[in-house]
Amino acid sequence: MVRQMETTPAKSCPRPVIAVSSCLLGEHVRYDGGHKRDDWLTGPLAQFVDYRPICPEVAIGLGIPRPPIHLVGDPAAPRAVGVKDPSLDVTDALEDFARHTAGQLADVSGYILKSRSPSCGMERVRLYGRHGGQKQSSGIHARVIMERLPNLPVEEEGRLNDPILRENFVNRVYVYRRWQDFRQQRLTARGLVDFHSRHKYLVMAHSQAAYRRLGRLLSQLKGVHLPGVADAYIAELMSALKRRVNRGRHVNVLQHVAGYLKPSLGGDDRQELAEAIAAYRRSEVPLIVPMFLLNHHFRHYPDPYIGGQWYLDPYPAALGLRNNI
Ligand code: SF4
Repeated sequence: MVRQMETTPAKSCPRPVIAVSSCLLGEHVRYDGGHKRDDWLTGPLAQFVDYRPICPEVAIGLGIPRPPIHLVGDPAAPRAVGVKDPSLDVTDALEDFARHTAGQLADVSGYILKSRSPSCGMERVRLYGRHGGQKQSSGIHARVIMERLPNLPVEEEGRLNDPILRENFVNRVYVYRRWQDFRQQRLTARGLVDFHSRHKYLVMAHSQAAYRRLGRLLSQLKGVHLPGVADAYIAELMSALKRRVNRGRHVNVLQHVAGYLKPSLGGDDRQELAEAIAAYRRSEVPLIVPMFLLNHHFRHYPDPYIGGQWYLDPYPAALGLRNNI
């Protein structure tokens, strides 16, 4: 018999806005007048998000084309100077623009940066010593943005070619988007607990310890300063979600979720689901296979609690991210 889903909370997520290095969208803003159009950003992902293109070097008036810059000096305080003319130092201008930009990104749910750029690179940007030698740093713009907005999901286009990092980033973007939506409403203890509860299995797939820490944070909300707890909660949550998920943790969550179907599924269906989870554990099939079966069975045997869990459909399925992990 099909159980009814009367109390399942509605699930919808507004379309995220993602800030992006303009050259990745194909804009001719690079120092040589070229671009670095990225096919995945401008193709599949563009169907589900809106972009806010930002080119810091053009924004500070360097023009197109312009003399190339690179990072020099101390890794703790690198300077962005002209490659041919070291007296051209645009560090302060880039930092001022980044501080201004950080203040304008309240509605943005993620940032995709151009790798290796002295302005936009997230990490491993070449840093030249004043007296020779090379180290690595972050681009000037990227560093300020990450310092000012530590919860904002940030990635580079090159790393997004890794299916696990790609899925991880998109997952964080959608969680953060839901959080931004949640914080638009009046903050209540009940709302906070509900938000946490609906992300239970998503967080558990990344870290059981983080799930317990988040639970402890929300365990005593009487008389506390709720906005302070909310700030601590989202910082811990976004940090936990950065953790790379492995098959073992997904298997653990899949088995937990499958447990809700026990009273409803017949022996053959139960066996098929268990085999799909085992095949996923052995890396014979991608995550989409057991997820597809779970979603299929929960459509026939809805469960109000699982129906509210974002783990089953954390972002648009058409992105196909779970086909590759
Ligand atoms: S990497 Fe950043 S600064 Fe360089 S062209 Fe692209 S958007 Fe502009």
